[in-house]
Amino acid sequence: MLVLGIESSCDETGVALYDSEKGLLADALFSQIDLHRIYGGVVPELASRDHIKRLIPLLNQVLTESGCTKQAIDGVAYTAGPGLVGALLVGASFAKSFAFALGIPTVGVHHMEGHLLAPMLEENPPKFPFVALLVSGGHTQLVRVDGIGRYELLGESVDDAAGEAFDKTAKLLGLNYPGGPEIAKLAMQGVAKRFSFPRPMTDRPGLMFSFSGLKTAALNAWQQCKAECDETEQTKADIALAFQQAVVDTLTIKCRRALEQTGLNQLVIAGGVSANKALRQSLEAMVAPLKGHVFYARPQFCTDNGAMIAYAGCQRLLAGEHGDLAVEVKARWPMEQLPSI
Ligand code: ATP
Ligand code: MG
Ligand code: FE
Repeated sequence: MLVLGIESSCDETGVALYDSEKGLLADALFSQIDLHRIYGGVVPELASRDHIKRLIPLLNQVLTESGCTKQAIDGVAYTAGPGLVGALLVGASFAKSFAFALGIPTVGVHHMEGHLLAPMLEENPPKFPFVALLVSGGHTQLVRVDGIGRYELLGESVDDAAGEAFDKTAKLLGLNYPGGPEIAKLAMQGVAKRFSFPRPMTDRPGLMFSFSGLKTAALNAWQQCKAECDETEQTKADIALAFQQAVVDTLTIKCRRALEQTGLNQLVIAGGVSANKALRQSLEAMVAPLKGHVFYARPQFCTDNGAMIAYAGCQRLLAGEHGDLAVEVKARWPMEQLPSI
């Protein structure tokens, strides 16, 4: 089955072609980062308008790259939520009209299920059951995964998501948006232990997270240094390293607990923050004594992309799921509500 995947939930337009027999055939992405950078965050209306501009060129690009014709496509998968409603509507209307014209089915994919299944596109994919850590711009969740659509939420953030904390901390240090890669780069020059930030909510049992206090800790450290006329690049790098280390340690502690609690030793990490090298290394060291394994996608499939939507949609279409002609999207959509296949 050849499936066209369309992602438009936020500030990336992603289009991909995934074949259930041959694997991923083509993947194209347009990131709106430059469009939103001067505002320091995503402007929803600008995002929607830009998705409209990019979809057809990206579709043509994946058709050319794969050598497939439109008529060869068997189904269309699009992100139906959660995300920015206007942006989601662009992808959903495009998917529905394209599929209607070709007389093929559509399926609305949950964006976080897309992220969660992205490591399945790699060699040696994980096998169910496993624990998944979803760490993106809008989510920080620990999920027990027993199959597609069989999700048990074990814990999540009570405030900022991990990616959001990276973005906000970067902003207060005067770094570019998105902040995750910027902090990671700067942290490489940092001196360890000059600053020490808290590991929030690790002193009590449970699998909940809280990241909003960390950016405040970083802000206080930065303001203190400013007051002492120590606003150097080195100071910034030292704060970036201390912040990253605090996030990585906190995530590692909770992942270890989730593995202990479930008795599993397979850990999948997904979403933009799973591209972070320090996080990958720390989790790999944590699972080693458990004889476990950490699975993740290649960096460009950690952040938003069409390939993960094409893959997740293909699994659901193969199971017989498909939507009607109504164009419906959801800004909020708990993943546990998804049907299992
Ligand atoms: P959601 O998926 O929750 O709707 P989103 O789609 O905006 O949110 P993603 O595209 O999965 O999120 O990821 C983007 C986030 O990942 C940003 O917050 C970004 O700063 C962060 N990020 C990307 N690369 C890295 C990295 N190397 N280290 C840390 N964070 C990173
Ligand atoms: Mg994005
Ligand atoms: Fe995302």
